[in-house]
Amino acid sequence: MAVLLVFPSPLPKLRGFLRSCWAQLGGHSPPWAPALAVQAPASLLEPVEEKTESDETPSIFDSIFWMAAPKSRRTIEVNRCRRRNPRNLIKLKKNIDVCPQCGNLKQKHILCGYCYEKVKQETFAIRKQIWAQEGGPHKAPTVETIVLYDGEKPRDKDEGKRIIERNRKRPSWFTLD
Ligand SMILES: [Zn+2]
Repeated sequence: MAVLLVFPSPLPKLRGFLRSCWAQLGGHSPPWAPALAVQAPASLLEPVEEKTESDETPSIFDSIFWMAAPKSRRTIEVNRCRRRNPRNLIKLKKNIDVCPQCGNLKQKHILCGYCYEKVKQETFAIRKQIWAQEGGPHKAPTVETIVLYDGEKPRDKDEGKRIIERNRKRPSWFTLD
């Protein structure tokens, strides 16, 4: 319960003295008048500040994008129909062919993965050989390059070309032009 107290204004002599003291201190408040003292919880006595939305510090929840949540449970029949829909199932491939080079199965009109891997490894080995012969990858002369395998001699038309020698048998797929 709030208690109301009314203070009467100070006596006239005291009022003049206090007013002069207040003026010396530089106060500009209104002259003395009956004052009101109210006893109440501290929360009620706090000054009310008008808050606008822009003044408030952003909460952590403002940066979260809230997703829509399902309002009711979906039955198992509905879920199974969705999961077993033909567009979600693995499709049969009917364009399978045998690789004429290695005999592995491959898709038609698509490079054979096994043959591609063989070529990739041989290319890597040739590149390593080039590094060993020339001491780096960026020192290639501006002439044509031929790769010679075991038991091969440079032909007459290969004169002046850059020759990379490999100490293995020539792979069947790597034909000499
Ligand atoms: Zn193949």
